[in-house]
Amino acid sequence: MHRDAKWKKRSSEEIAAVRRERKRRRIKGAIIFGALVTVGTSLTFGWREAGDRGWFLVPAQEIVARLPMTVIFGVVGAVLSYTLFSRKKPTVVCPKCGTVKYASASAQCSCGGHFENIEEMEWR
Ligand SMILES: [Zn+2]
Repeated sequence: MHRDAKWKKRSSEEIAAVRRERKRRRIKGAIIFGALVTVGTSLTFGWREAGDRGWFLVPAQEIVARLPMTVIFGVVGAVLSYTLFSRKKPTVVCPKCGTVKYASASAQCSCGGHFENIEEMEWR
C-alpha cells in the first residue's frame, strides 16, 4: 500500500501537536500512578507495620487518618514517575536508510544519512 513511503519531516505545527500529546499522556500516566500509590498505601500497611500487626490490610476506620500521609506518597510517586519518563532518551531515525535507534552523541548514520528526532518525522 505504502510502497513509496518515506520518513518525511513533519511541519512545525504537527511537531507541536505530537509534543503536546506526549506530554498529556505522560501527565495522565503520572496521575494514575500517583493515585495507585495513594490507594495502595491507604489500604495496606508497610512491611514493618504489617509485621507488628500481623496483618496487611488497613482497617476501614484508619484509612481516613492515613490519607494525609498517603496523598503525599502519591504526589511524590507521581512527580518521580513524571521526571523518570521525561528523562527517557529520544528515539532518532535515519530518513535515508530507515535505521531507528536511541539518540547518541553521533547524529551521523553509517549509510551517510543524518539522524533526526523521530517525533519530528512521519512515515508516509
Ligand atoms: Zn542511514
